Amino acid sequence: MDKKKENVCFICDKKRNDCMKKNDDFEEHVEKHYMWKYIRYICSIILKKRNQYTDEEYLFWNQIRDKKKDWFPEAKDDEGEDEDEEEEEEEDED
Ligand SMILES: [Zn+2]
Repeated sequence: MDKKKENVCFICDKKRNDCMKKNDDFEEHVEKHYMWKYIRYICSIILKKRNQYTDEEYLFWNQIRDKKKDWFPEAKDDEGEDEDEEEEEEEDED
């Protein structure tokens, strides 16, 4: 993913200049907020019904599933356990 240099935080509209005035690290700020946006995105996907996914969301969901150990490093105790157990998945994986 390209890291585009922005001058305004796209989450809270905080400006790079404002950060610099306060000696805050704007990059860090944006990254932090970006992370929250990301988490919200993930949550929205998780909470969404799978048959309502867009193609993009479906791909993203699959990535989450594949990489969830990286994403949620503290939640890897129960490897092999199916967290969707009560949902009766209908996946056609060829
Ligand atoms: Zn922000």
